[in-house]
Amino acid sequence: MKEMLIMTPGPTAVAENVRLARAKVTTNPDIDLEFYDFYKRTCDKLAQFLKTKNDLRILAGEGILGLEAACASLTESGDRVLVLDNGIFGHGFAEFVELYGGQALLLQSSEKEDFDIEILEKFLEKDHDFKYATIVHCDTPSGVLNDLSKICPLLKKYGILTVVDSVAAMGGEDLQVDNWQIDIALGGSQKVLSAPPGLTIVSISPLAYQAMENRQSPIASFYCNLLTFKDYYEKNGFLTQCQFQTFMD
Ligand SMILES: *Cc1c(COP(=O)(O)O)cnc(C)c1O
Repeated sequence: MKEMLIMTPGPTAVAENVRLARAKVTTNPDIDLEFYDFYKRTCDKLAQFLKTKNDLRILAGEGILGLEAACASLTESGDRVLVLDNGIFGHGFAEFVELYGGQALLLQSSEKEDFDIEILEKFLEKDHDFKYATIVHCDTPSGVLNDLSKICPLLKKYGILTVVDSVAAMGGEDLQVDNWQIDIALGGSQKVLSAPPGLTIVSISPLAYQAMENRQSPIASFYCNLLTFKDYYEKNGFLTQCQFQTFMD
């Protein structure tokens, strides 16, 4: 087939060396201990790239899986969540929040420019009782780029966890997860990284884990439960730790 130059934000054209790498022999990653090391090394490299010491996971599923997993893992019934909305992906977060029983409060700013910090400052002075807030790094249809270096530290000043959708920006724009205090940063394989679709990148801070572990009710999902993978390496196995036990129960 003739190569096509795809000019969308993603899925993008995939280079031949990347396509060929996917033709390598595969094993069963559930029981292949070498895969655990390979997976961990890859996660560690990505964490370095995102300037973070937080845990990093690569999940099999498209970008949306990461967005839903963050909301599923953090949201409990009745939780108030601040959804910063200056674009289509911006307000899209509210759907996931509400799907898992949360109360999404949308705070709007112009879709034509980056989120107005003053609007956020004024709002937070009056109301800051939120478990977490969501913000999109680059809102794809408009191309607006939000200044996470200001927004996330401001939210954290009020003790609000920060969830960032950087699916369209990760790899193309600077993303300093630790300096900017991002509790959950989300990326995908098929946008800037120019790999085929199907992988989601998720970094998770200790505070985000704490919020998941301190829940009153269990996380209402298996596939989207970020705690499932928390200690996979130390425990040496998805197979031994989760699937096998589930079969035995
Ligand atoms: C593309 C995109 C997503 C969704 O990613 P998929 O891999 O298509 O599920 C989420 N957020 C933003 C900002 C995107 O550009």
